Amino acid sequence: MLIKNNDIWFSEYYAEDDVKLSLKISEILHTEQTPFQKLQIFRNDTFGVFMVLDGYTQVTEKDEFIYHDMICHPAFCVNPDIKKVLIIGGGDGGTVREVSRYKTVEKIDMVEIDEAVVRACQKYLPLTSSVLDKEPRLNLIFDDGLKFVKEAPEGAYDLILVDSTDPAGPGEGLFTVGFYEDCYRVLSDKGILINQHEGAFYDSDVEEMKKAHVKIKKTFPIAKVFGYTLPTYASGYWYFGFASKSLDPVADMKPEVWKQFGLKTKYYNIDLHKGAFALPNYVQDILDSVSI
Ligand code: SAM
Repeated sequence: MLIKNNDIWFSEYYAEDDVKLSLKISEILHTEQTPFQKLQIFRNDTFGVFMVLDGYTQVTEKDEFIYHDMICHPAFCVNPDIKKVLIIGGGDGGTVREVSRYKTVEKIDMVEIDEAVVRACQKYLPLTSSVLDKEPRLNLIFDDGLKFVKEAPEGAYDLILVDSTDPAGPGEGLFTVGFYEDCYRVLSDKGILINQHEGAFYDSDVEEMKKAHVKIKKTFPIAKVFGYTLPTYASGYWYFGFASKSLDPVADMKPEVWKQFGLKTKYYNIDLHKGAFALPNYVQDILDSVSI
């Protein structure tokens, strides 16, 4: 944090030390060194309450709807029959909030390594965490997602959402070939994996995107990437991976079935779903450059 003209600023560095995004802090709500990471929750007058883990912005009240729409809804439009969901990470609760809107879902296992994140978000971020203590289908498990998936039975889930931090610290193991192979094993035949797939603008993010993509392509016959705008992530544009054994994210869309869920979404829609998988040439070139 930087104090300038009596103002306190939080800055996240995007490229080495010469590019950053700074948010002026109007209130410091929570600071804690958990057993896994540095947890900070601040308030900014424009973005509202926001959470930072190890110096990286995770979620803000103002733009969380984009991230949580896009991690959740594309998979349900491709496979509306999803019944059993595994969320890895997701400590702020936004992902489980969106999944719980599907009354056809029977079970949601959420494996979050750091209980402190959940408790802090329940206190300071009700916008994303409110469903955590209300949803009867939710099993909230405080454990390492890597270990949980390794021990999970074959075909146990129709959807795995890896809503993790970046591949450093506790999140590192969630970007390994072994993890993706375990995800493949515990997914059903029409199973879908959605994972945090990093960015394509700054060099360090590109390297992480490439590393994740080559490992997922080695593991899944269908491995696509889709993008969305997110003002508080590096470059304002971020990506998820869509991997599956048999379903293509655009060719196998079921828009008319998805519309019957009758969900009002603030960011996601059917046309945007198709557009999200239409990548800019420079991003497609990055993905094509990785050889498996
Ligand atoms: N990026 C999301 C967003 O914008 O809404 C927020 C992600 S959520 C805060 C990331 C979570 O992943 C954190 O709560 C972190 O504790 C959790 N996490 C990191 N590594 C993990 C692991 N190995 N197993 C389970 N959870 C993990």
